[in-house]
Amino acid sequence: IGRFWAPINTLAGFYNSLLTAISYLERIFETIDEPVLVKDAEGAFEMPTVKGEVCFKNVCFSYEEGHRILDNINFTAKPGQTYAFVGPTGAGKSTIVNLICRFYNVDSGQILIDGTDIANVTIHSLRTQMGIMMQDSFIFSGTIMDNIRYGNREATDDQVIRAAKTVCAHDFISQMENGYYTEVNERGSRLSAGQRQLISFARALLADPKILILDEATSSIDTETEILLQKGLNELLKGRTSFIIAHRLSTIKNADCILYVDKGGILERGTHEELLEQKGAYYDLYISQYDFLA
Ligand code: ADP
Repeated sequence: IGRFWAPINTLAGFYNSLLTAISYLERIFETIDEPVLVKDAEGAFEMPTVKGEVCFKNVCFSYEEGHRILDNINFTAKPGQTYAFVGPTGAGKSTIVNLICRFYNVDSGQILIDGTDIANVTIHSLRTQMGIMMQDSFIFSGTIMDNIRYGNREATDDQVIRAAKTVCAHDFISQMENGYYTEVNERGSRLSAGQRQLISFARALLADPKILILDEATSSIDTETEILLQKGLNELLKGRTSFIIAHRLSTIKNADCILYVDKGGILERGTHEELLEQKGAYYDLYISQYDFLA
């Protein structure tokens, strides 16, 4: 869909995959509880069971001193809402979602989940209540069944299959030579990008987090898969607060709120219809990128 929507650069992409892997490891191997990039604050307590309100209050952030990346970000997502981030590459969208997972600490301001400042809770108790799906869905060597069960080790085969059915992954899986017992590998070589994403949806559904973070894959997919992904995603989003770095118009149109991020600030916010009416940056983007798709 053009350079404007190009994926984050390779290095950042790799870095994100690493973070995703770390986060999954934290979920799967509960004994590995060593925070990697940020440490628990002194006196950190367990994050209570999350309901799903996420509030950014005057959040400022820089990766390096003196080089401000996010400037005074404010928004409040209510439980169950879907927030879509759009805007040019380098605007700060990934940085915002990284902060929700507390991969970094903010310079100033607060990120509150259900009113609790995430700076004060243990990283483990925070991340195990979040589902994080980065662009290139993480597939490991093993069966499709195992790959989906990654979301919840306790899940039975029946529960795995039910999850796959809910997110529209069942049909393609059952058409594979050994169905759910088909072996796949890290590169996911037998799977298309869309299929990998459907597997990650099923995995996330099993994990059942109240907060979901998704960096939508930019790879081109056929219309049929796009429809499946949207149907699957709609099911996955039910009852969760979701933050999506959105590349597909179908996702953007369904969001409760679109945040147009530019140069580390929120330039525009509203629903798809509201932003089109404003005839601002989002409108221009829509016309230039999506007009022919509508
Ligand atoms: P987007 O997701 O909108 O493309 P990012 O949040 O990835 O934007 O990047 C925002 C800015 O932060 C960019 O200028 C980018 O170069 C910079 N940036 C991203 N990650 C890092 C990092 N780990 N260290 C230093 N700068 C970074």
